[in-house]
Parts: sequence; C-alpha cells; structure tokens
Amino acid sequence: MPITFLFLVRRMIDSIWIESLRYFIGAAGVALLCWLLVRRIADRRIQTRRATNADRLREVRQSMWSMAVFAFVDLITVVLIALGAIAFNQGPPVLTTILWQTALLIVMHDAYFYWMHRWMHHRTMFRLLHAVHHLSRTPTSWAAYSFATGEAAFEAVIVPLMVAAVTIVAPAEPWAVFIFLAHQIARNAFGHAGFELAWPGFTRSPWTGWLTTTTHHDLHHSEGRYNFGLYFTWWDRWLGTEHPRYHERFEAVVATAKGAKPAMA
Ligand SMILES: [Zn+2]
Ligand SMILES: [Zn+2]
Repeated sequence: MPITFLFLVRRMIDSIWIESLRYFIGAAGVALLCWLLVRRIADRRIQTRRATNADRLREVRQSMWSMAVFAFVDLITVVLIALGAIAFNQGPPVLTTILWQTALLIVMHDAYFYWMHRWMHHRTMFRLLHAVHHLSRTPTSWAAYSFATGEAAFEAVIVPLMVAAVTIVAPAEPWAVFIFLAHQIARNAFGHAGFELAWPGFTRSPWTGWLTTTTHHDLHHSEGRYNFGLYFTWWDRWLGTEHPRYHERFEAVVATAKGAKPAMA
C-alpha cells in the first residue's frame, strides 16, 4: 500500500484505538481485580495515603494524551517497514521464534527503560520529561501511561527500534510483539496498583527475587531516589540503586500481623 497522507492518518487512528484498548483492559482490569478483592487484600495496601478520584482522573487524562503521542511515534514503524528494516513473518507462526523474540523484546525493553528512567531523574530532564509521572505519589493502575509528551515519546520510540533489531535475526513474529505488549501493560498496571499481591519470601527467593514487585515501583513513586527498574531487579542490583530497605518494606506489607506497616505517604 502506498504511503499517502490519508494512509498515515488512518494508521494513527487505528493505533489510538489499539493503544486505548490495551490501556483500558490493563488498567481497568487491575483496578477491578483490586476492587473485587479489596476485603481480602486490605492488609496488602502499600501506602497509608489513599489516591483520590481526582488523582485517578488526572492519570486517565494524561494517559489518553500519551496514547495520542504513541500513535504519532508509531509512524516510525511505517517508515521502517517501508525501508525494509522491519519485516513480519508472513507464514504460519513458529513457536520457538515466538518464544525467543518475546524474551528478547522484554529483556531489551527492561534495559532501555532502566537507563532512560535514570536519565530522566537528572534534575533538568526530570522537570522537562518525568515530573508529570511523579505527580502520582500514591499511584493507581491508571497511572500506567501517565506521562508528559516528551516522556511518552521516549517510552514509545523504543518499540519499533526493538522490532527492527529482532528483524536483523529473523522476520518478527506478530505474536511475539503482541505478547510483549500485553506483558508490558499487565506489569505496568500491576506495578502501579497500590496493593502488593506477591507472596511472602518473593523478593529474597532465587526463583522470584529477580522479578520486580508492586512494592518495588511503589517505593520509587513515594521516595523517588531508588528502584528505576521495570520488569527485573537486575539493573538496580548491579548498579546499587535498589532501595536499601526494599525487602523490609515488602515484608512489612505482606506480613500477616496487622500494624506492621510503615507510613509511606
Ligand atoms: Zn521515576
Ligand atoms: Zn510509575
């Protein structure tokens, strides 16, 4: 199909629909789950401060603006496809290819996010790009895409570039991209949920300790100076930026004894 102005506009509209669907399913799904389970997980609330409806409204409004920015950045995908830098597998899906491409996309995204996020915490960059996301001191799942315009662009630009990187090895599997994006919104919405759903011992176990928890990212929102990672704890541990009391704070939240929680407002 020739790239005309009308084609680009259509592509942006499709992109806004797909992004909105992904965001609302992820953010509303996690919010609904927490609401349904609120009696059972009341002790798992991470902060004593409560998010208000005004907080949620700001997060949704800002996320909707981010999705418009994502749609604009998605035009890079169109250009890369036209240049042959992105190619999708046109044949039947291959399971092994889907598996390694999904894993590679997740690991690459985690590394990119850690370094981009640390860069955005430099004083000037913070004011310019990242302060809007940190308006959510007590985040909710609706904060998943609550970014300023500049941050939204940096968040989105990596996706077509990673698909182009995968294409160097083999044509990208549409299912790998779909699973990567579904995993992204699920982890993102859970990371901002405000309730810790992981089980006791999760952060110290060699089997699960390398995965971030909701407490991990919640501490980043309440205190700011630590826990820059997205999916994995690797980069924060390698670079010494994990919150020094991460395990203790997690354990206080998941402790069954009531009254053990620190005030994290
Ligand atoms: Zn931050
Ligand atoms: Zn956040």
